[in-house]
Amino acid sequence: MSRPPKSGLVLRGRERLKQDFTRAASLRETYPQLAELCIEFEFEDGTVRGPSPQSFRYFPAARGFFRYSCPCHSCDGEFDLSDQVAELVGVGRVQRSRQLQVFCAGQRAQENNTREACPICARIRVSAILHSKEHST
Ligand SMILES: [Zn+2]
Repeated sequence: MSRPPKSGLVLRGRERLKQDFTRAASLRETYPQLAELCIEFEFEDGTVRGPSPQSFRYFPAARGFFRYSCPCHSCDGEFDLSDQVAELVGVGRVQRSRQLQVFCAGQRAQENNTREACPICARIRVSAILHSKEHST
């Protein structure tokens, strides 16, 4: 069984993702009000056995970086949750979560050098716990 090779484009994309990650500021700097953030992914690709679910938990010392490459190894797509996180944290409740469904916008490299649209759909749950401030009620 040979897996389709990773294309140069995919490798470059993931390399860039890594570099952006190392440049990201910590959560403490970006969202001082955030105590904990949890991001859970479930994937569907139209087959019975889709990619395994993934989940990420972040504490204030973690880097505030919320872009994830598609679980399909030959795909150049990524899921960017930066805006979702910013929105969620921006609302002033102590505990919040939201669910969204995102289709991968990437393309899969095929063995014969053609590309096809990635069929992966991610169901994502983002939950944030904020530091409780002085009682505001
Ligand atoms: Zn994909």
